[in-house]
Amino acid sequence: MLKFNDKVVIVTGAGGGLGKAYALAFAERGAKVVVNDLGGGMTSEGGKSSRAADLVVEEIRAKNGIAVANYDSVEEGEKIVQTALDNFGRIDILINNAGILRDKSFTRTSDIDWDLIHRVHLRGSFLITRAAWPHMQKNKFGRIIMTSSGAGIYGNFGQANYSAAKLGLVGLSNTLAIEGKKYNIKCNSIAPVARSRLTQTVMPEDILDVLKPEYVSPLVLYLCHEDTEETGSLFEVGGGWVGKVRWQKSSGAIVKKGDSMTPEDVKSKWTEITSFTNPIYHASIGEATNHCISSSSGDSPSS
Ligand code: NAD
Repeated sequence: MLKFNDKVVIVTGAGGGLGKAYALAFAERGAKVVVNDLGGGMTSEGGKSSRAADLVVEEIRAKNGIAVANYDSVEEGEKIVQTALDNFGRIDILINNAGILRDKSFTRTSDIDWDLIHRVHLRGSFLITRAAWPHMQKNKFGRIIMTSSGAGIYGNFGQANYSAAKLGLVGLSNTLAIEGKKYNIKCNSIAPVARSRLTQTVMPEDILDVLKPEYVSPLVLYLCHEDTEETGSLFEVGGGWVGKVRWQKSSGAIVKKGDSMTPEDVKSKWTEITSFTNPIYHASIGEATNHCISSSSGDSPSS
C-alpha cells in the first residue's frame, strides 16, 4: 500500500471537485494536508468563503485524518506555504489544482478574462511553487503536480485564455522537472476529466456519472509517492483510464538546396515535412536541437 505518513501536502482549490478528492485521499493514507480554497465563484467573481475548505477539513478529521484549512488565493502562494510550515513544519508535496473559468469566444475575450485566468492558473501555480521550492530543495524531496487540461493540449472553442494558461503549466512543469532533478524534486502535469462544478454545466449527466474525481486521485497519489521516479511527464486521466502524452514530430525533410532555401522549396517538400510515417520523439531540448543541426548538416541524426 502506498502510504504518505509524515508527508505534508498542500492541495490548492481543495474545497470541492478534484482538489477535495485529492485532499481526502492523501489524508486517508496518512498525510498531513493543507486544504486551501478561497471559496469563491467559478469565474472568480462573487464573495469568498471559508466554508468550502472548512467542510473538507471537518470530513478529514472525522475520519481521524490530519488537516488544516487555508483560505488564501493561490496568488498569495507564500501564505499557503507558511500555513504548512506553521502547522506541520515542512512541505513535501504540492498539488497545483485551484482553477476558474472565464470562457468567451476569442474576439469577446477581455483583458480581465485573460488576466484573471492567467493570474489564478499560471501565476498562482508559479507563486506557490516558488515559495515551496527552497524547502523541498533543503529536504532533498519534493513532489509537484501541475494541472493542465485537454483544452491546452488540443485547443477548445471559447477557451483561448484558459488553454494558453493550461499549456503554459506544462512548460513550467517540464522545466521544474529538469531543475528539480538533483534535489529529488519530481514535477508532472495532468490533464484530467472529471465531474465538478466546472464541468457539470457543459457535459451531460450520464457522462458525468462515470467521471468521478476519485478516478483521478489515484494517479496524483502515485506520482507523488516517494518511490515514484516519473518526472517531466504529462498524463491524461479520467473515468478510470490513464495515459501518458508526449510530443511527436515528423521525420521531416532537408529543404535547403546548397545554401539557398525558398518558400517554393518548402512547398515542394510539404508532404515529407508533414508525414508522420516515421515519427520521432525527443526527450530533451538538447536531443531535439542536435537532431535539427545534424540533419541539416547531412550527418545521420543520433536519434
Ligand atoms: P472546481 O471548481 O470544483 O474546483 C476548483 C477549486 O479551486 C474551487 O473549489 C475554487 O474555489 C478553487 N479556487 C478558485 N480560484 C482559487 C484561488 N485563486 N485560490 C485558491 N482556490 C481557488 O473544479 P475542478 O474541475 O475540480 O478543477 C480542478 C482543476 O482541474 C482546475 O485547475 C481545472 O482547470 C482543472 N481541470 C478540470 C477538468 C475537469 O474535467 N473537471 C478538466 C481539465 C482541467
